[in-house]
Amino acid sequence: MGTRGREIVGMNVDELLKLLNKAFADEWFAYYQYWLGAKVVKGPMKDAVAAELIQHATEELAHADLVANRIIQLGGAPITEPKKWYEWSGCGYNPPNDEYVKTILNQNIDGERCAISYYNDLMKKTKDTDMITYNMVLGILNQEVEHEEDLQALLEDLELMVKRG
Ligand code: FE
Ligand code: FE
Ligand code: MG
Repeated sequence: MGTRGREIVGMNVDELLKLLNKAFADEWFAYYQYWLGAKVVKGPMKDAVAAELIQHATEELAHADLVANRIIQLGGAPITEPKKWYEWSGCGYNPPNDEYVKTILNQNIDGERCAISYYNDLMKKTKDTDMITYNMVLGILNQEVEHEEDLQALLEDLELMVKRG
């Protein structure tokens, strides 16, 4: 923890740490959901879909890394027990029990939409109080918006293919 770095935060740091740990749990779930989805996905365009899912998994893990670093910087501790991810997570985990491409894509689109809303709220909360977190979240949000669009584009291609044979 950096003392002055923590002092300049203009909001309740414990409250901020809770919000960051919530994001941390969400990122691990997002990572795992993509990682497993890429392995089990079946159906038309599965190779293209799997490649995108793997890329997103890597990016979600990088988000978890950024969030963990910020938590530590503020004197907090990233959640130490994976079983606690369920308690903390806001966006939750959607197990890829149905491996069909469309189902997997829709599950991940739901996850991205939840992440976009969450980070957008977090940006509003930190806008005038914590520029460091704000800036970090801006970078993450940029990628979540990109993720949603990537998945929707794949879904669109898939639907066109199915419709037009
Ligand atoms: Fe993420
Ligand atoms: Fe994402
Ligand atoms: Mg992508």
